[in-house]
Amino acid sequence: LKGTTKDPYPDWKAGEPVPYAGLCTTFSLIELTTKRLIIMEHCSLFLRQVMRLTPDDLLPTVLLMINKLAPDYAGIELGIGESLIMKAIGESTGRSLQVIKADQKEIGDLGLVALKSRSTQPTMFKPKPLTVRGVLQGLMGIATVTGNGAQGRKVDGIKKLLSASDAHNTGKIDITKDKGGPSEAKYLIRFLEGKLRLGLAERTVLVSLAQAAVCHEASLKGKVPSTTDIENGESILKSTYSELPSYDVIIPAMMEHGIMNLREYCKLRPGVPLKPMLAKPTKAITEVLDRFENQTFTCEYKYDGERAQIHYVAKSAPQKLSKSAPDANKEVGNGVASIFSRNSEDLSKKYPDILAKLSTWVKDGTQSFVLDCETVAWDVDEKKVLPFQQLMTRKKKDVKVEDVKVKVCVFAFDLLYLNGDAVVAKSLRERRDLLHAAFNPVEGEFAFATCMDGRELDEIQVFLDESVKASCEGLMVKMLDGTESGYEPSKRSRNWLKIKKDYLSGVGDSLDLVVLGAYYGKGKRTSVYGAFLLACYNPNSEIYETVCNIGTGFSEQVLEDLHKQLSEITIARPKPFYSHSTGGQHQPDVWFEPRFVWEVKTADLTLSPRYKAGSHEGVDPAGGKGISLRFPRFIKVRDDKKPDEATSSRQVAEMYRKQESVAKNKGPAVDDDF
Ligand code: ATP
Repeated sequence: LKGTTKDPYPDWKAGEPVPYAGLCTTFSLIELTTKRLIIMEHCSLFLRQVMRLTPDDLLPTVLLMINKLAPDYAGIELGIGESLIMKAIGESTGRSLQVIKADQKEIGDLGLVALKSRSTQPTMFKPKPLTVRGVLQGLMGIATVTGNGAQGRKVDGIKKLLSASDAHNTGKIDITKDKGGPSEAKYLIRFLEGKLRLGLAERTVLVSLAQAAVCHEASLKGKVPSTTDIENGESILKSTYSELPSYDVIIPAMMEHGIMNLREYCKLRPGVPLKPMLAKPTKAITEVLDRFENQTFTCEYKYDGERAQIHYVAKSAPQKLSKSAPDANKEVGNGVASIFSRNSEDLSKKYPDILAKLSTWVKDGTQSFVLDCETVAWDVDEKKVLPFQQLMTRKKKDVKVEDVKVKVCVFAFDLLYLNGDAVVAKSLRERRDLLHAAFNPVEGEFAFATCMDGRELDEIQVFLDESVKASCEGLMVKMLDGTESGYEPSKRSRNWLKIKKDYLSGVGDSLDLVVLGAYYGKGKRTSVYGAFLLACYNPNSEIYETVCNIGTGFSEQVLEDLHKQLSEITIARPKPFYSHSTGGQHQPDVWFEPRFVWEVKTADLTLSPRYKAGSHEGVDPAGGKGISLRFPRFIKVRDDKKPDEATSSRQVAEMYRKQESVAKNKGPAVDDDF
């Protein structure tokens, strides 16, 4: 990579908009390999070419590579299902919907269906070739249409892009060869479906971007970068992005000031939500003690509510609250605030009651902050925490303060930014001291997470019991001092461990799984789905790997609601990025778009030829088997997680390995489905 200066797409000249065909050529090269280093090299070479020839297009190029139109917090979604895409393909290529549906049934990949339709279509005139910026603009237009006839206009938007696609491709394209080659229609459709399926994970793009920037900057000085330069660049870009997950800010700053100076210009800023730090599950207090041996640690109650990140800037402060989503920023007393969910969505319309009170908890002298906390349903009469189910009954949008029935109390457990400075690198002890000094607790409205710094097994057991009595889920145990106790945005860290009350006899944690299919109910359940097929997610291959069927834990009402919700997203056949056994008797009656995430508990994990979870993680030495859940039970819908935030295949494999090492002497588990 260091030595090469060969342009991956030689036909484009400096200053010209990046040709979409160039990006698709890179995609097709990536699609032909599974080797991460080669993927990174293709990606990075193309980004270098963009930096050299048309740096203004670097941002749209990166966005199209990561299959996003904007950062998550901007709340921009395409909102397009399979049927709308099929309609657009049919209309733009003059083929009937029936023919498109038949093709989809046969080929099973809408991208290839579009490609086939385009290549059989006679070309009357040669449209102008697509550009990366034009495609992003077109997709943005499709995502943001609202109001009357929005669906029709979305279809029109797709048609427009499709008819201009592959203008450069002459002759017919053979869809059976080389996965369809560098077709624009194919990648356009895959973008609309939300999966490019290149094995190009976002963190691979981030690393490639860093490599490209280091090489590009060195070549401007006539130098070849060293391995250390490249590693430094990668680490700077990764840490910058974890504090300020916004390519819109980072890319222009990187092009202007150079990657090595990025940290100076791009810091955590109030108004831009960061991905929260997460915890690793544990199965026993002794496991916690082993992990933190000779280190200081602290235990906190693990509240069972909804995670919230609260950002605030006083009007008198020198800086302003950055604007993330259109209506995210709200006036609160003498300041402006916003509140975000675990996956960076704007919660201001859900919690106006929190925003209304916020300024009364802020001490004089506290000018700006970012708080990490849990909102929990609160019993005003009994003055105690209520179970999570109560919180779920609150409306999600357009809540009016005066209509709020379920009151919430905010339990703050971390502080990420205070009075103009990020404090994430400080130790937890220091952050906690700053947190306690900056706010006034108010009973039933705002409190600090209850904590205990004892380190004996008995003390922790007593504290765990107390947490359960106080309606909490268990404990969070955190490193307290030293650099390891810093706040690590977006990481599931071993410096935070969770002990849930009901782990102690189970597998260590519940799982968050995606619903891919369902089976028609029998007996009392004939009018609804009686059981469902669930999957975990493999972010490296971008594939949903099936892990169990589930038919337990649903009330009749829940089954009815789920039936209503899921029947709207049925699809004709499984997506090509679903991995499930092919045996006919194991197929669900209906398949769904990957949209909903459910929390599920299980007795234990076992190997099964029928499921695919973790099959690439080396759990079955003989190969072929995946991991499955035994006696899975539905707990709740996880609205705060997107499908690609579901429990990963690697996490499932980790749970399985942990369980196996504990149960080594008990003999193999048997495959025993519901
Ligand atoms: P789950 O919430 O199901 O345990 P998760 O993947 O959402 O899983 P984890 O990292 O596993 O998140 O658990 C941490 C979660 O617990 C946080 O996201 C937060 O919502 C909640 N929580 C409650 N109390 C605390 C606390 N004192 N410190 C940190 N997180 C807490």
